[in-house]
Amino acid sequence: MARTAQENPRIAPEVMARYEAVIGLEVHAQLQTVTKAFCACSTKFGAAPNSNTCPVCLGLPGALPVLNRRALELALRASLAIHCEIQQLSRFARKNYFYPDLPKGYQISMYELPLALAGYLDIEADGQPKRIGITRLHMEDDAGKSLHEGFPDAERWTHVDFNRCGMPLIEIVSEPDMRTPAEAYAYLTTLKQILEYTEVSDCNMEEGSLRCDANVSVRLRGAPKFGTKAEVKNLNSFRYLSHALEYEIERQIASIEAGGVIVQETRLWNVAAGRTEPMRSKEFAHDYRYFPDPDLLPVTISPHRIEHTLLAMPELPEAKLARFLTAHGLAPYDAGVLTASRALADYFEAVVAAGAPAKAAASWISIELLRRLNDAGKDISECPVAPSALADLLGKVDKGEITAASAKKVFAAMYETGKPASEIIAAEGFAQITDTSAIEKIARAVVAKNADNVAKYRSGNEGVFKFFVGQVIRETRGQANPQVVNEILKRVLAE
Ligand SMILES: [Zn+2]
Repeated sequence: MARTAQENPRIAPEVMARYEAVIGLEVHAQLQTVTKAFCACSTKFGAAPNSNTCPVCLGLPGALPVLNRRALELALRASLAIHCEIQQLSRFARKNYFYPDLPKGYQISMYELPLALAGYLDIEADGQPKRIGITRLHMEDDAGKSLHEGFPDAERWTHVDFNRCGMPLIEIVSEPDMRTPAEAYAYLTTLKQILEYTEVSDCNMEEGSLRCDANVSVRLRGAPKFGTKAEVKNLNSFRYLSHALEYEIERQIASIEAGGVIVQETRLWNVAAGRTEPMRSKEFAHDYRYFPDPDLLPVTISPHRIEHTLLAMPELPEAKLARFLTAHGLAPYDAGVLTASRALADYFEAVVAAGAPAKAAASWISIELLRRLNDAGKDISECPVAPSALADLLGKVDKGEITAASAKKVFAAMYETGKPASEIIAAEGFAQITDTSAIEKIARAVVAKNADNVAKYRSGNEGVFKFFVGQVIRETRGQANPQVVNEILKRVLAE
């Protein structure tokens, strides 16, 4: 059986409370471009191994890289969205290291002159707002991928896929401002939301478009200096990030409490074992022998260019949330749920644009729709009900063609079958019963069958009235207009 993080040596809560963690995150996001960072190869995910390659991204002699304009534009947009100062002059450098998935023998990155510096992100963790500093944002290209499993000869050989070589990335390095795994979680959530909103990255963590490493150290509360940090790699899901940080913080505290010393090292989050494990001793920066890439021009950014990027900036999450409160009159909770992802916010706005009342649309999406999507582990992009179809259903409720109770059943059928509301209502006979004589007939039958409750009602027990309403609604399978049922029952019981 796999070991879990819970098997980390348990430390008494009062010991844990004497320490605090210091966490900084390094996030790599793949820019949403059609072609790679320095060549015209496709960035499409899932292509046949080594099919999206050329002399440039394979690092063949004589091949010359050219910076992808779109990649630069997206990197600038990301920099501004996280409040960084764009540097007038930045420069690509070669980060030299030898590895089988790196055919050039170096990664193109930015070193002493990054694209942007000194930004911040406002997060909220455990109900507390906090500002997390961002040290820098720079551009770089990705390495390929070594494949150790899934081949008949995997025992003897490692395979390599160079499709990812040269993919355009940005690296966003935070200040060591986070103190708990919850703050790190909130930071990554907020950053992902901004990168998605601004269309900088699709942030698909399963496809490796968003990757996260953490620098973690612990110190006694109030200690002036940071402790020695470990870098934990491979935190490529929100769950891994939380579990790995919790494990690593406890591990370091346990080690110090036992009289040990924390070694500066790189550790990997071992998902199956549920623990961090040492990978290699930390390489120092000079090991990479950085030097300016002679094949690439320095990047100069004019104030005009920044202005232009700001003008093209899509609406950011905070602005959208504020607009949902004012323009659509939503409650803060609903607005928060609906703006959690841009795709969900777009869906909501499409439902409203198709004519649905905003508040009803918000409540149906956040309750009926999200519950079904969550149960199925699906994303709004996989929603089987089109915004116009949901708007159509809500319109029918608004006009009194069906009851809210029936609408829930109709919606369930729409979700299952993908059919429009009108078709389901016609086929299943969900149309609201507004024929008062039909309702009156049922009401009289219910009253006749429940003489004892009628007596109670007439002797002044008003609470019994709800019983009658419930019975009539049930007899009509929830299709009677509750208002009409109320009126008729009052009249019949008064006779
Ligand atoms: Zn290429």
